[in-house]
Amino acid sequence: MSLDEAIETTKIHSIAGFLDGEKSFVARRPFRSPHHTISDIGLLGGGAFPTPGEVSLAHNGVLFLDELPEFKRSALEVMRQPLEDGKVTISRAAGSLTFPSEFMLVAAMNPCPCGYFGDLKRECRCSPVQVQRYRQRISGPLLDRIDLHIEVPAVEYRDVSSERAEENSTATRERIACGRQKQHERFARDTKTNCNARMTTRHLKAHCKLSADSQDLIRVAMTELNLSARAYDRILKVSRTIADLDDKIDIAPEHVSEAIQYRTFDRTLWI
Ligand SMILES: [Zn+2]
Repeated sequence: MSLDEAIETTKIHSIAGFLDGEKSFVARRPFRSPHHTISDIGLLGGGAFPTPGEVSLAHNGVLFLDELPEFKRSALEVMRQPLEDGKVTISRAAGSLTFPSEFMLVAAMNPCPCGYFGDLKRECRCSPVQVQRYRQRISGPLLDRIDLHIEVPAVEYRDVSSERAEENSTATRERIACGRQKQHERFARDTKTNCNARMTTRHLKAHCKLSADSQDLIRVAMTELNLSARAYDRILKVSRTIADLDDKIDIAPEHVSEAIQYRTFDRTLWI
């Protein structure tokens, strides 16, 4: 984290009473992974004397929700405001309090209650109604706010044991650091935005210009996959990031088509 980010995150952890003599400064990005039984207040913040919830404790870091459909629907729905605005407002009779909550949401879920839907080796034992009910616990509007949907198939033995050279995590980290640096430079004079994910409509116009080919790709995807206007903005932002990681100034059609591919759930689960 930058010094400013570390100070902000430290303040939140201090208000929550997480700091003591041994740990008095939060210098590393927080990683929070609350259990799915967490209450709305635990997730969002609140109480008689409002304290920050997980969305604020994860400020400038990662909020990981494992088994996403197991979380209470009400808790997931109230996350929409902090996801959109980067802050959460808690209203009480005495007044209202606002805590920052700019976190990266990472969530995991099974394809169905038994976990084998779509598996080539094992049979799924769930009825279509059970599968549908399970998936519908995640609403369309929440899903719209998640940029990358990635299906992770079961790993075969030959892949686990393979000695094929893959990019190691040190190289990946360097590539990401370069991408983040580009974003810092892009938004250097901007006080409210520091990364592509937080671009406003004005930023999208300035930094996400598309060629006619790329525009065609998005138009077809919007129609065929029945994507929302919000999903459209997300595709533009993700395309910008893919182009940054590819060290390109202009967004190319391949960057756009890769970004469209990350919206798997829009087309497989909710249509
Ligand atoms: Zn199943």
